[in-house]
Amino acid sequence: IISEAADELSVEAYVIGGFVRDHILERGEPKDIDIVAVGSGIELAKKVSEKLPHQPKVQVFKNFGTAMLRAFDMEIEFVGARKESYRSDSRKPIVENGSLEDDQNRRDFTINALALRLNKEGFGDLLDPFNGFQDLSDKIIRTPLDPDITYSDDPLRMYRAIRFASQLNFMIEAESLKAIKRNRDRIKIISKERIVDELNKILLSQKPSKGLALLYKAGLLKKILPELTALQGIDEVEGQKHKDNFWHTLEVVDNISENTDDLWLRWAALLHDIGKAPTKKFSKKVGWTFHGHEFIGAKMVFKLFKRIRLPLNEKMKFVQKMVLMSSRPIAIADDSVTDSAVRRLIFDAGENIEDLMTLCEADITTKNPKRFKKYHN
Ligand code: ATP
Repeated sequence: IISEAADELSVEAYVIGGFVRDHILERGEPKDIDIVAVGSGIELAKKVSEKLPHQPKVQVFKNFGTAMLRAFDMEIEFVGARKESYRSDSRKPIVENGSLEDDQNRRDFTINALALRLNKEGFGDLLDPFNGFQDLSDKIIRTPLDPDITYSDDPLRMYRAIRFASQLNFMIEAESLKAIKRNRDRIKIISKERIVDELNKILLSQKPSKGLALLYKAGLLKKILPELTALQGIDEVEGQKHKDNFWHTLEVVDNISENTDDLWLRWAALLHDIGKAPTKKFSKKVGWTFHGHEFIGAKMVFKLFKRIRLPLNEKMKFVQKMVLMSSRPIAIADDSVTDSAVRRLIFDAGENIEDLMTLCEADITTKNPKRFKKYHN
């Protein structure tokens, strides 16, 4: 239908970006499709709607020159091919009309710049100016242009690179990773909400430790979650060491992630030890201790969520409770925790998070009334 509409309007049309990448990788059902028209994307969207059986509503975003319609359970987004240039104080580009090549040049990664032609003449041709197809088979994240320029222009791309590496289990090309490290201070121009969107996607990937470790190595994790990176390191006094609570946390997150897809349980796992940094003490008698870290950690969750603008709603309270109970359900990966009932709870939480919250509450109030009171005070 899009092909016919484009030919009738005599514009070139291409499907581009994530749809093409995921199609080649055979990554399941697509949620959205991005269409580039060399001409007006809005006109093309309207024409496509006319041709569809139910003539879906076309949502036009005039300021962005884009249009969107829903069909076949997907969001189809239309944009006119464009050329972008950036100012140093904003990740919002200055936009002008351009060719397909200009539009591919503005894409973040070679694997996201692949375009498939939709017009009848040349239907299905793959336009791949940066060898993105090869990078897909080599599992490499690489920028089409100079990585320093790409990341400095729009620093959100640094998080996107790491997010795609984590979701797809790809490597970030060495030059690109170095450029991310060099440009990390640029994140000051990105909104917290956008960063957290990427962080959530990393947490929801199959093995979140991959993305989290990359964030750490690139120096980006400290900028958003200093409470977490403060856990890194092993101190030794009189020959006694404690474990590295940062790398331990990443293991716990992976372990929890094998059992649940629930984002908030994964957040709870990520934060379960954050109170250990400020409570760390060494005494000659007992060695290293982290007494009260659950309470301090639970309080830190509130501030942290507020700072990174995660919604302070029921989910936050849930994470807080789980952190408070960190020595039990969250640390399921710790050998010391073998409680099979808790294990089952974690397992079921994806479907029934409210029940789990109620049970957590019950557990805290009945088994640890003193602690519960202290926490609420
Ligand atoms: P997913 O749907 O998994 O997030 P996606 O690649 O479809 O993956 P979108 O954020 O929907 O991600 O972006 C669609 C396309 O737009 C990308 O494939 C890429 O070509 C381009 N794109 C998105 N964000 C940027 C950006 N910050 N800089 C450059 N190109 C971008």
